[in-house]
Amino acid sequence: MPDKNPNTIQRRKTLKIIVGKPKKREIIIGGLYPVVIQSMCTTKTEDWKATAEQIITLKKEKCQMVRVAVPSLEAAKSIPKIRKHIKIPLVADIHFDYRLALEAIKQDADKIRINPGNIGEKDKVREIILAAKKAKIPLRLGVNGGCLENDILKKYGHSCAAAMNESARRWIRFFEKQGFKNFVVSLKASSVIETVKACRLFSKDFVYPLHLGVTEAGLNLSGIVKSSAGIGSLLLDGIGDTIRVSISGDAVKEVIVAKEILKALGMYNLEPEIIACPTCGRTEIDLEKIASEIEQKTKYIQKPIKIAVMGCVVNGPGEARGADYAVCGGKKMGAIYKNGQLVKSVKEDKLVSEFMKIINKDY
Ligand code: SF4
Repeated sequence: MPDKNPNTIQRRKTLKIIVGKPKKREIIIGGLYPVVIQSMCTTKTEDWKATAEQIITLKKEKCQMVRVAVPSLEAAKSIPKIRKHIKIPLVADIHFDYRLALEAIKQDADKIRINPGNIGEKDKVREIILAAKKAKIPLRLGVNGGCLENDILKKYGHSCAAAMNESARRWIRFFEKQGFKNFVVSLKASSVIETVKACRLFSKDFVYPLHLGVTEAGLNLSGIVKSSAGIGSLLLDGIGDTIRVSISGDAVKEVIVAKEILKALGMYNLEPEIIACPTCGRTEIDLEKIASEIEQKTKYIQKPIKIAVMGCVVNGPGEARGADYAVCGGKKMGAIYKNGQLVKSVKEDKLVSEFMKIINKDY
């Protein structure tokens, strides 16, 4: 359902795109529907068993749509084998060779991601569009700052937000000329600033849904920070319908970070938000351990409730008042609150189990 919570960010309304087969693994992107979390497999798609296994793991972490690289005919032919084992839409990622896109459509991929600039000739792009139209599946028109058309690069002198938008505009007009509007757009660069500028510019002119991400964001910490800064800034502007966090080598972490970005912005409804104090010299309980255990044990609650885990009385009671449930630490003990009211105080070693008894009664 579209988000109707008045406290959420004012989002820009885009066209609604349906990915996947109705009732089976259908996901809606755009149209003010909740922001969709995507990731991309790191396995070789030709190894369909490993790819299906990775997708099952990603789905357990609540990944809603997954992209696989299709660099060969064998990879395209793996699609139906993978699909038998998974319950989320599968997106085929195609570069350079339009025949791979046609094969992926034939093999029943739910969506195709292309960068028309590297497919090259318009006739080849047209063939992909017509095949997607016939199969009633959406495309993603992916513009990447690192591979823009030569004439555009010549005009602007370098890759920039305006150049990326010119490339997107050119291809959008071409897609529309073929009577095709069933597509999502992405404008990604490895620079956070260029990515944000490009998407802001785009959203002024177009109503097509936007897939957000900072491409090649980098290893672990730098990938997390760049993705959070870029995706977070745009979501705060109300821009973005689906997101992919980019971290070298760890697809599961991408999904966890994506969820945390959405939770931080009050845009995630399928898990509790944990508020934990950073700890300091006043802390007299093992707060990190307690907060992590509570986070793990409450993941089954598919509601955006707030749980505060605080180290002491400095900020604890205040946060407890604003949270649905809270733990406020003392000297080797903790006080448990529900809806701002003190329920009981217990010793540290019983804190998590007693807290969970209270929360489990409600969910
Ligand atoms: S809540 Fe208490 S323990 Fe936690 S950081 Fe603040 S002062 Fe320190």
